[in-house]
Amino acid sequence: MEDSSLGRGGASSDNNKVKQIWWRIWCMNIPNKIRNFAWRAWRDILPNKVNLRRRMITKDELCNECGGEPETNCHMFWFCEKAKEIWENSKLVFPFHIEPWWSFLDVVWKIMKCNASNSELLETTITICWEMWKNRNAVRNGGPRSTGKTIVKRASTLLQDYRAATEEIPPTRPSEAVKWHPPDHPFYKMNVDATVLKELQATGIGTVVRDGEGKVLAAMSKRVLAPLATLEAEAKSMEVAVQFAWEMGFRDIICETDSLSLYQALVGSTEAPTCIDTIVSSILLSIQHFCCISFSHVKRQGNRPAHILAQFTRHVRDFVVWLEETLSLIEHACA
Ligand SMILES: [Zn+2]
Repeated sequence: MEDSSLGRGGASSDNNKVKQIWWRIWCMNIPNKIRNFAWRAWRDILPNKVNLRRRMITKDELCNECGGEPETNCHMFWFCEKAKEIWENSKLVFPFHIEPWWSFLDVVWKIMKCNASNSELLETTITICWEMWKNRNAVRNGGPRSTGKTIVKRASTLLQDYRAATEEIPPTRPSEAVKWHPPDHPFYKMNVDATVLKELQATGIGTVVRDGEGKVLAAMSKRVLAPLATLEAEAKSMEVAVQFAWEMGFRDIICETDSLSLYQALVGSTEAPTCIDTIVSSILLSIQHFCCISFSHVKRQGNRPAHILAQFTRHVRDFVVWLEETLSLIEHACA
């Protein structure tokens, strides 16, 4: 069998591929709901009928659409007559031949290998699969069955609208772009950010420590089971990050946040708002052991790697730490 069969052997090279795929999916310019769908598809945890049968929820595993084959991801997305009609309408050309035993991961990996620097085919393919999955669920719930043409059109409109909406956010003139400034020797700089994960009743914390050359020395994504408000979450993330910096052995460090209120409270230029009063006191107490520690503020664009790591906690059960690794997840944002 060729090298595209992933996730069955468990070898470390496969683990690397899985990591690469995940990071590539993570960096794609697609809505979060589709990114989550892709993640569930490649983990093979979508509730297709074969998976439902495996979990003993149903005895029937045949595809509702054609009734001829078990409804696996591969059948549903590539080999069912319905799927074929959709791909024909899409006019997409896959530079390889998909085999019936391939997993979703195998297809994604092949697309990645054939389009290393361009995500267009991958983003479009995954968005079409998402629309297929949505329509398949709608039909199961008694909704209308869309034609292949409509499904392709919906995917294309969704991608276009999403891209148009996300392009409007950055400042128009590159000269106005906020940049991250590396620390002067011998200091390290730790960027910190938080995200409120309302649906998970949790807070995601991201932190990354870089040296004067911008090299990533340590990074962490940590999920804290506490549904905090935005400012509290920012304060909590700083508390956790300072602890992380200490444990990782950094003693001369600048801690950078994109929350102006938190920064002002930490440096004492304004009184800490009541909701973060206790956390700020705890941070100020914990920094006493460092050789030299200070706080700084950067606008959100300058804090993007920490932001990505905070968002990444949606897919982290507890926490993940990276040490002196090339971290594809934030490579673009660090460049
Ligand atoms: Zn079928």
